[in-house]
Amino acid sequence: MNATRDARLDLTAILDEQPQSDPKRRIYANRNLDMARVEVIGFDMDYTLAQYHQQAMDELSIRVTVDKLIDKRGYPEEIREARLDLSFIIRGLVIDKETGNIFKMDAHRHVGRCYHGYREMAEAERLEVYGTRPIRLNSGRFHWVDTLFALPEATLMAGIIEHFEGNGRELPWTYRQLFDDVRQSIDEAHADNSLKAEILADLPKYVVKDPDLAPTLHKLRSAGKRLFLATNSELYYTDAVMRYLLDGEMPFYRIWQDYFDAVIVSAAKPRFFNEERPFIELDSEGNPVGEARRLKRGVVYSGGNIRVLEESFDFGGPQILYVGDHMYSDIVRSRKASVWRTALVVQEMEDSIRLTHEHKADLSRIHDLEEAARRLDDAINYQLTLIKSLGRMGQLLGRLTGPESRVVDRARESARAELDLKRSLQARVLRELEALERDVDARFNPYWGRVFREINERSQLGAQVQHYACIYTSKVSNLLAYSPNQVFRAPREKMPHERV
Ligand code: IMP
Ligand code: MG
Repeated sequence: MNATRDARLDLTAILDEQPQSDPKRRIYANRNLDMARVEVIGFDMDYTLAQYHQQAMDELSIRVTVDKLIDKRGYPEEIREARLDLSFIIRGLVIDKETGNIFKMDAHRHVGRCYHGYREMAEAERLEVYGTRPIRLNSGRFHWVDTLFALPEATLMAGIIEHFEGNGRELPWTYRQLFDDVRQSIDEAHADNSLKAEILADLPKYVVKDPDLAPTLHKLRSAGKRLFLATNSELYYTDAVMRYLLDGEMPFYRIWQDYFDAVIVSAAKPRFFNEERPFIELDSEGNPVGEARRLKRGVVYSGGNIRVLEESFDFGGPQILYVGDHMYSDIVRSRKASVWRTALVVQEMEDSIRLTHEHKADLSRIHDLEEAARRLDDAINYQLTLIKSLGRMGQLLGRLTGPESRVVDRARESARAELDLKRSLQARVLRELEALERDVDARFNPYWGRVFREINERSQLGAQVQHYACIYTSKVSNLLAYSPNQVFRAPREKMPHERV
């Protein structure tokens, strides 16, 4: 016992040292990940290797979608005048196709903040529609906005509903019709080249060129890792975007494909992870050449599945790390279908971390207020028990003498006074907590608050990130600051009863 105590290292100096790295560029771990054991790293392209200027992308998607709604689906010209607030939508919201409402869910899939158009619904109204049962996301009624590509469809839903109903007019379509039309128009815009043609015509406007990307990939390769690209984008688009990002960035890499040991386009994720679709070799024009049973360097494939990919690399399971941005297609499916390790790229984290640090003092006050409310609960409960016990004592002892009964009465009175005091303190604590929480939340997003939280819970998105992503960060090139053999260590999570 003493020997252990003697051998104890003094941690003060270590713990007092502030972390050197910029928190916005840090990599955060939900589960321990030893990069030395990772042999193969796969990357998604859109919003992972290629990040987009969100506002330009949203404006473009909205313009192309509105054109399609008017030209192909007979929507009135006036929808161009709908006020579209790009800050209204964040990742992790849910569109209710039946009611047109948009809401945020907490970790238990309960409906939190909820809007109809731009009008926030009161709690009573929200409870009337959704009750207190968890939402079944796969029921067909709901659409989860879990990729940055999907923000515009939610923006359009809210804006168009507000345009009509906010002016006291009836929406000319059912909510489901409106949702389907918007969804299909966006789907078409992705598939028929109308969106991508505009992006390719002005890549710097839409695609973020990160000077650290090529050095990051190079560093990983130099450490002996093998890299692959698996994107749902088509060859022509992948080629143009990757050329823009990587060609000419480092000596010894002739073209972008040289960074990768396998290149897979039109991968059809999530099916890539749970179906046995064949790999099709493509020629440089993107025409199919034939089925491939093993992947070769320098060749581009479409389709495919994880089994053939693992066989080609001779590695599998936890030796493969997949880096993506799409919660469902890239992260949830790859974890469920295999034991691949996962890294999630969350572009909007930079903002969220910046704000968290800016409002550190208020967030820590919120934490203290919550703790104070919990302790007061305990103190209130104690006083209530005390009052009850003293009352019982009086009854049980029956014939108390005058002085004895005065002692008991005084004890009860003082317990009651203490109870009142604790109750009024708690009311003040809760009032301050509620006001401060609302105020801080509004600084993150005036409609929805923090992306990863819903009031005092994790949001559903926060819960999924924590559950499925081994590590997460704001961009791929954040890996550059770490050793390729880094051990990313998850903080030890405490259950409520373990917090002392
Ligand atoms: P990845 O992230 O690199 O796998 O590629 C995403 C691809 O999916 C891009 O080519 C997008 O254009 C495409 N995409 C994103 N959203 C939609 C959609 O709603 N419908 C069809 N394609 C989409
Ligand atoms: Mg992506």
